[in-house]
Amino acid sequence: MADQGRTTRPPTDVDRLRSVQAQVREAAVAAGRESGSVRLMLATKTIEPDRILALIAAGQRLIGENRVQEVVAKAAALAGSGHECHLIGHLQGNKINQVLPYVTCVQSVDSAALGTRLNSRIASLERTLDVLVQVNVSGESTKSGVEPAAVPALLAELAPLSALRVRGYMTIGLRSADLGAVRAGYRTLAGLRDRALTVGMPGAEHAVELSMGMSGDFAEAIAEGATIVRVGSAVFGPRALVNG
Ligand SMILES: *Cc1c(COP(=O)(O)O)cnc(C)c1O
Repeated sequence: MADQGRTTRPPTDVDRLRSVQAQVREAAVAAGRESGSVRLMLATKTIEPDRILALIAAGQRLIGENRVQEVVAKAAALAGSGHECHLIGHLQGNKINQVLPYVTCVQSVDSAALGTRLNSRIASLERTLDVLVQVNVSGESTKSGVEPAAVPALLAELAPLSALRVRGYMTIGLRSADLGAVRAGYRTLAGLRDRALTVGMPGAEHAVELSMGMSGDFAEAIAEGATIVRVGSAVFGPRALVNG
């Protein structure tokens, strides 16, 4: 872009967004995939609405929030901006009613009980809701999500819930500098999806999405088939420490 004679300025959120968008496209092409086959989600926890709005104005549509409280707090400021919000953090049953007006997908469904409560609530609103099954591929006890072996049973329990659309799977990768080990976890998630589709597992008919990869490892996730990458700090810079 032309510098218009100005001295160099520090990069803005929009500059970093453009850079991440380019890296996402390049990683897709490097993996032999279509350059537009991966959706970029901005993980916006702790980020003020003004900064989010600037990125939506720059063409970013999809955001992800971890906490119901934050979704609700930002809702008025973001209303009408044309964005789409997914919940990507743990959802307590007693917060379902608060969050449903503002999200089009809950990526963190990890139990039949939660699925059942979401289904009855969304059905009473005469809506449907996209959901992803959250899987713990790393085996770390601190991570939410069902273990890979429990996925078929959960899919079977979600299948009859007619207001839910199971669109795929989400995972939070292993937190490790060993990108090979991180990548192996992503391969596990892709394998689960592929197997469920191949054998025609009940409830998995439309479960094609793989939400995996964050700032430090989205290229590896894309190489393993990610269709949604969730990126925060690569765009917003390092966060103050908060839960999630
Ligand atoms: C914060 C967060 C991200 C993004 O993490 P970065 O490392 O900042 O890119 C992705 N997914 C979930 C569930 C998160 O909580």
